[in-house]
Amino acid sequence: MPLTDKFGRSIRDLRISITDRCNYKCVYCRSGSDGPQFPEMAIDEYLRIARVFVGLGITKVRLTGGEPLLRNGLVEMVSELARMRTVESGALDIAITTNGHLLEDMAQPLADAGLSRVTVSMDAVDPGRFARITRVPNGFEQVLAGVRAAQRPGLNPVKINCVLLRGLNDDQITAFGRFARDEGVIVRFIEFMPLEEDRVWSPEIVVTLHEILQRMAEFMPLREVQHAHSETARRYLFEDGVGEIGIVAPVSHPFCGHCSRVRVTSDGKIRTCLFSVREHDLAAVMESGASDDELADFICRVIDHKEARHHIGEPGFVPASRTMVHIGG
Ligand code: SAM
Repeated sequence: MPLTDKFGRSIRDLRISITDRCNYKCVYCRSGSDGPQFPEMAIDEYLRIARVFVGLGITKVRLTGGEPLLRNGLVEMVSELARMRTVESGALDIAITTNGHLLEDMAQPLADAGLSRVTVSMDAVDPGRFARITRVPNGFEQVLAGVRAAQRPGLNPVKINCVLLRGLNDDQITAFGRFARDEGVIVRFIEFMPLEEDRVWSPEIVVTLHEILQRMAEFMPLREVQHAHSETARRYLFEDGVGEIGIVAPVSHPFCGHCSRVRVTSDGKIRTCLFSVREHDLAAVMESGASDDELADFICRVIDHKEARHHIGEPGFVPASRTMVHIGG
């Protein structure tokens, strides 16, 4: 019986943040300064957590951060995850979300270790615009090299995450359409969520699914294709079949009703929603000497209280107790 919450949602997708350090300072995520950081657990402790979750029916593990490629021991961690089997005895789906800055050298070792897929964040295809968003000079070429390096050992299809902000990079939509077709990647536009350190979010800045589709149609018509029930992105193919884009629209089209995700932060707290205001201290339970069965009981009790939905944009919205960089997106 897979892990299920009180609303009947099956929880199959675990995201582990293995560090909240990051070498980028993207304007929609971080402030310009480093700020306080949460402690990191040992890689073996994340692996133990993953093993217990997998025993409860998790089929996908995504490593994130912060920037996961900054974490020593990442390749070894992926090979250990690749040895785990799901409760149905299948291989675990192992993915990483990265800003891609260090991917050029790490793509091959990660693929050799058993990584299944990679998602690279890239918020502009114009290098100057890219630098303004990430606050890192010359990052674009580095990240593009990382994307291409990931394709060589077959980490395909590489997905590109792009957060659109009105007035900053919404002029990049059609250029990303061209990029998806030329590079053979899936570009996924993500609506900006109120999870940034600078608290600048407002509904006016969000570029919605509807607008993205309209602008992309001016470049080339799209047709929607079926997406998996638990998938967050709506999927679209260009009319000639070359190139795919996705749109993740948690603000204009929330998908909480079929959320299959649970997150563990770098310091070992379980978050049952990106917008949780309450965390559950798995690290403390581990430190108390709990057995794997006791950890599993703790996790099941926590999952039972998974939030029904987020409340973005509603009166009285209470911000999440951490910002995205400290949660793990
Ligand atoms: N450093 C890695 C990266 O850049 O992909 C992984 C961590 S990052 C927090 C994970 C994802 O969250 C990225 O794709 C990023 O674009 C997205 N993200 C960060 N802040 C966001 C926000 N306020 N709204 C929507 N997506 C956000």
